Amino acid sequence: MKPFPRAIAIIAAFLCVAQLATWASADEKLKVLIVDGQNNHGVWPKTTQMMKRYLEDTKRFQVDIATTAPKGSDPEYKPTFSKYNVVLSNYNGAAWPQATQEAFVDYMKQGGGLVVVHAANNAFGDWDEYNKIIGLGGWGGRTERSGPYVYLNDEGKLVRDTSPGRGGHHGPQHPFTVIVRDGEHPITKGMPREWLHVRDELYDMLRGPAENMQVLATAYADKDKGGTGRHEPMIFTVSYGKGRVFHTPMGHGDYSQECVGFITTLLRGTEWAATGKVTLPIPDDFPTADNISQRAFGN
Ligand code: ZN
Repeated sequence: MKPFPRAIAIIAAFLCVAQLATWASADEKLKVLIVDGQNNHGVWPKTTQMMKRYLEDTKRFQVDIATTAPKGSDPEYKPTFSKYNVVLSNYNGAAWPQATQEAFVDYMKQGGGLVVVHAANNAFGDWDEYNKIIGLGGWGGRTERSGPYVYLNDEGKLVRDTSPGRGGHHGPQHPFTVIVRDGEHPITKGMPREWLHVRDELYDMLRGPAENMQVLATAYADKDKGGTGRHEPMIFTVSYGKGRVFHTPMGHGDYSQECVGFITTLLRGTEWAATGKVTLPIPDDFPTADNISQRAFGN
């Protein structure tokens, strides 16, 4: 009989250690909340799942999703932002309830993180604090009252252009080159200076308060492709209170979000918004100046 209890004791000890290890690793994961539920991009349920999987595949993040009612302002929409290291917006829809707006602003001021992807910068055109948080936006009634157009000129100098006009525009979708302008920032460090992005909408004419904003990468909106002839911000950050914002206007289609450049930028930008640091690497299949790199996601 003697060896039997001993074996049980060993097994019990092993299970105990395994459980502690599980708890420890769960604790170390960064908590992400994806907000979605309404979007003029019908593919949003899929892109939410794509971004969730990309994040969770790194083992660095644990992702929850908070979805609004499908139409109109949802009075029951009250995510607990403060439980999360970072919020990722895939939302472009009706106003959140006042209390939810206030909770979100509070969360950001106190050091929260936000990731803004593509049409999330179309949302909430008349919510002043949201526009300060995201830096730049388009559509949603945005005009010169929303803030300047922000872009780089041919000399690479940042321009804040207060001329009147609509906010938000793009030509037909096409693959385009992303040019890293600050290769020392944790998000872009180690990226090739130029890389080719999979077919996407190249947002131009974005405008907003653009306070405490740092442009890390741009894309040239070629007039031959229906663009502005300006170098438009494609990867940028905003600091708001103690909070950190990572913003990319890329990511229109599910195919656009299969771009390894998009995925890598999203992962590193999310980690940075959550912690101010980046540990996730630039993968070997990152796009080059001449070749796109696309990972088929499936359905
Ligand atoms: Zn789009």
